[in-house]
Amino acid sequence: MAAGPLLGHGGEVDPVAALERIAFLLERQGAVTYRVQAFRTAASVIGELADEELRERAENGTLGRLKGLGPKTTRAVEEALAGRQPAYLARMEEEAGGPLVEGERGQRLLRALRGDCHLHSDWSDGGSPVEAMAGAARDLGHDWCVLTDHSPRLTVARGLTAERLRQQLALVAAVNVHLAPFRLLTGIECDILDDGSLDQEPELLDALDVVVASIHSTLRMAKGPMTRRMLAAVRNPLVDVLGHCTGRQITGKPRPESEFDAGEVFAACAEHRTAVEINCRPDRFDPPRRLLRQAVDAGTLFAIDSDAHAPGQLDWQIYGCARAEECGVPAERVITTWTARQLATWTRTGRTPHRAAG
Ligand SMILES: [Zn+2]
Ligand SMILES: [Zn+2]
Repeated sequence: MAAGPLLGHGGEVDPVAALERIAFLLERQGAVTYRVQAFRTAASVIGELADEELRERAENGTLGRLKGLGPKTTRAVEEALAGRQPAYLARMEEEAGGPLVEGERGQRLLRALRGDCHLHSDWSDGGSPVEAMAGAARDLGHDWCVLTDHSPRLTVARGLTAERLRQQLALVAAVNVHLAPFRLLTGIECDILDDGSLDQEPELLDALDVVVASIHSTLRMAKGPMTRRMLAAVRNPLVDVLGHCTGRQITGKPRPESEFDAGEVFAACAEHRTAVEINCRPDRFDPPRRLLRQAVDAGTLFAIDSDAHAPGQLDWQIYGCARAEECGVPAERVITTWTARQLATWTRTGRTPHRAAG
């Protein structure tokens, strides 16, 4: 998203854009949803008011009486309408608007990216509506992204039943009409069950553009069964991307890597053309560098994915780009550098663009 002064034609500062930019920066900084929600809610309340009512309320001091506006958001809107950059926004730009990774690290791969294969909306455990996620991905310069809400068994994350996922497909079609030529692709982050099968109807998975398969349960399974579980998933022709393969958590409540035979799993990924995800979330950074190098040697494809649960987190791809560059991942083997058409050809036929090693 542009970090510009958010000026409108008359030199005024757009209050909705200012509130959204504050929210974006908070999310990018890793703030928990409730800290951000006030700004997102205020932006949508203000966005729905007619200009005239907005100015009237600002003049007679009744903005703060609107449901969804608090003292901080009211002040930000008043400052914006007075033609000034809101002080809260200025502070956030200062504190959280700079580069996430120093220098040129990751920039070459970042410039090559066209999309993102893994993000969540408020249909599962994300904090923002589908349209907001897709719009933010477009504003970051992407040509496409894949909506990958969770599957049914992940009840803590409000995983989508087959019925809800079918409803979501209709919404994705509608969003695409608004955002064209940007493409929001259909997808899922599908749980890999203990026996290696997938947590959604095969016909429905087949109808989606991209299937990311991840393990979220029984992460401490013994190495043998865990390897067999992962092999079953990555060999499944319905699966396109293996999500955060070790399941580790490196901040908050840390969780160790799952144990599995990485050599066997990455060899199967290379053979069956299942991309290994480079998960960019700072709490995951999965896989760790030694496994990432092993996957490079095994000849796999990669997906540099934000796994964003809020618009500002879409900006985290730079972390994965920096790690990928360090580990020698070639850009042509990164499916998120491909066009939507190249991606579609690959998911349907397994064919990679000819510049890729294949
Ligand atoms: Zn996940
Ligand atoms: Zn996810």
